[in-house]
This record gives sequence, structure tokens and C-alpha cells, in this order.
Amino acid sequence: MDFEPAVNVKTLARPTREEAESAVRTLLRWAGDNPDREGLHDTPKRVTRAYAEFFAGYEMDPIALLQRTFEEVEGYDEIVLLRDIRLESCCEHHMAPIIGRVHVAYLPHRRVVGISKLARVVDAFAKRLQIQEKLTAQIANTINDVLQPRGTAVIVEASHQCMTTRGVHKPGTTMVTSRMLGAFRDDPTTRRELLAMVGQPRSESFSG
Ligand SMILES: [Zn+2]
Repeated sequence: MDFEPAVNVKTLARPTREEAESAVRTLLRWAGDNPDREGLHDTPKRVTRAYAEFFAGYEMDPIALLQRTFEEVEGYDEIVLLRDIRLESCCEHHMAPIIGRVHVAYLPHRRVVGISKLARVVDAFAKRLQIQEKLTAQIANTINDVLQPRGTAVIVEASHQCMTTRGVHKPGTTMVTSRMLGAFRDDPTTRRELLAMVGQPRSESFSG
């Protein structure tokens, strides 16, 4: 499995909340403002709290999420597709939001997993500092390794605020990545069926 488990992060000494708040004050000064003015007084506190949400994935175990499966599926062995899962992530190069959607599909082999668990696996990897290519691969590899289905496919369409609001300033640009494993990689018919189910990427209904 090619992701670093949260345990690696935990071995690094974590700063105290006071240290983190003081770092935010430094960034406020770096932006050119005065952290002591009234409107910014509680900002370091709010930002450190918000980090707990933005980076909740470091506390989640994506493998554990997929442990509970159901085998009474009446032989169902067609594509299971969870479409349009909201993606909120953060680019590891600029710490800017990556906003988009994820489609997760697998071809069950005798067992299925609760669909909310698939969405939570997306969050477990999205709520970390990421690049979209790695995020896509991590979600697909984990589902494939743990559920051992006949195929796994993950398609991510996202807008990167580090290129829409800064740098080259190209709003409306979305990046599409995919990872296909098993039958989705090897069997063109299965792959076509999936792509028809997912439909064309629609970039109009999310904003980043
Ligand atoms: Zn970036």
C-alpha cells in the first residue's frame, strides 16, 4: 500500500496549540496585517481549530473503514458506482483548497461494503495535504487491497485554487485523474460501461 499511515506523522513531535497559534500570528503579520487588531484577535484560535477539520484524515484509518463487509448479495456482481462524492482537499504545495468530486466504483467479488464507507475512505485521504494524482491512487489502491474486488476504479475531477486564484489564474480549469485496476484496467467493455455510467465530467456544478 503506497500511503504513509498516520502513525508516521504521530511519531513527529506535535507542536502545542500555543505554538500553532503563534505561527498563525506570524502568517498574519507576513500577510501585512496586525494580529492584535480586534477583528484578528481570535483568528489564530479559529484557524488552529479549523485545521482539525481540514486535516481530519490524519486521524482516520482508511483500512479499518473497509473491514465490515456484507456477503448476502444474491450473487450481485455488477458494477457498484458511488458518483459525485464531494471532494474537499488541500494541495501540499500551496496549502490551497482542492475542490471537486470523486467517483468510486468496484466490481464486487462475493461481498460488498457499506456505501458511506467508500465516501469516508475518500475523506480519509482527502483531508490531508495532497496532490490529486496521489489521492486518486491511494483511494483506489486501498479499496482494491482491502476488498479484493474484481476491479476498482477511481475518477477525480477537481479545481485547484492554487491555479485558479493565484499563479496562472485560470478559473474554470479542472483536472481529471483516474486509476483503474483489475477488470476496469484489463477489460475494455467493463471500462466503457463504467465511463458511460459516470458520464462526461461536469465542471459547472462545483466551484473552487
Ligand atoms: Zn498547489
